[in-house]
Amino acid sequence: MKKFMKTCHKCKTDVKVAKCTKEGVELNCLRCPKCGEEYFTSSELVKFDILTGKRKMVRKFGNLGDSVVIRFPAQVLKDHKIKPGDYGVFENRPDGILIKPIHAKDF
Ligand SMILES: [Zn+2]
Repeated sequence: MKKFMKTCHKCKTDVKVAKCTKEGVELNCLRCPKCGEEYFTSSELVKFDILTGKRKMVRKFGNLGDSVVIRFPAQVLKDHKIKPGDYGVFENRPDGILIKPIHAKDF
């Protein structure tokens, strides 16, 4: 694992790459040898959410015929008032994909 930070935010001691167990799930982390503070990357936290079933905002890519599909979390659809028939514009971003909804009723 890449060391994404050098020193502990709390006591400024050099952190070390370690394996941490969070609620029974083993994750890669950086641990402070002095105060024991553990630091996780966002991808390790997503892994934790998937393995513990706490994946409200994580969806798996699936297949539908020749297409790859992904289901939307209900909360996202509600927050953005997305309905079947609306459009989504994909924008590539350095850290992922942004989907901008366009409502069919606005045409
Ligand atoms: Zn520390």
